[in-house]
Amino acid sequence: MKVLNSANFDNRSATKIKYLIMHYTGMINGDDALEKLCDPKSKVSAHYLIEENGEVYQLVNEEKRAWHAGVARWEGDEDINDISIGIEIVNSGHAYAGYESIYKGFPEVQMTQVVSLAQKIIDRHKIKPHYVLGHSDVAWRRKIDPGELFDWKKLSQNGVGSWPKSRLLEVDIKVDLSDFLRKLKTFGYDVDFEKDPSGIITVFQRHFRQDNIDGQLDKETMWRLLSLVEQKLVNIRL
Ligand SMILES: [Zn+2]
Repeated sequence: MKVLNSANFDNRSATKIKYLIMHYTGMINGDDALEKLCDPKSKVSAHYLIEENGEVYQLVNEEKRAWHAGVARWEGDEDINDISIGIEIVNSGHAYAGYESIYKGFPEVQMTQVVSLAQKIIDRHKIKPHYVLGHSDVAWRRKIDPGELFDWKKLSQNGVGSWPKSRLLEVDIKVDLSDFLRKLKTFGYDVDFEKDPSGIITVFQRHFRQDNIDGQLDKETMWRLLSLVEQKLVNIRL
């Protein structure tokens, strides 16, 4: 692991790390991202950055509060930076007005390093699977990273994060928007019982139903959330 020193951090007030947050860099290449994450003027950083070729950089010591999540919320926690570790994964990301990019999948050599670094962090801080999240999950009104091509399923198969369990039987599930929003809140999302729920449905799908991110609530989306909530509740009782 290479060590670079970002200036963009301060002291944590918390003593316990609760979350592991995944990001993509959303810049043309890793060098530009490293420069930005270390530049005192940018006021942003993360604890780690993982290059497309699998090289891992540490930018901020885990004991310190890196500035990666910004305005965010999960389960009522608002200072996510204070209680999390942030990993930036090099990927040019989605295009937006004034920025051209073709969002591409994450290379296997890079994902292998994401898995192994995340496993160590989770072990060190005893982070629960349902607290391994994307930036989009905790800041869904303004962020979409790491996006629908980030292989969360593979991560969970390697002990990193949660993933819906496949249904063994075709149980009848009622598609009910207010129930869905209530369960999203139980899972941790910042739900304000939105007038237009398509945004929050899309963000859930971007993480947990990546082959369809149409923002429409259907049976598949519904049961996936039910499965995640059930796993979370079982895990809390352990
Ligand atoms: Zn991010």
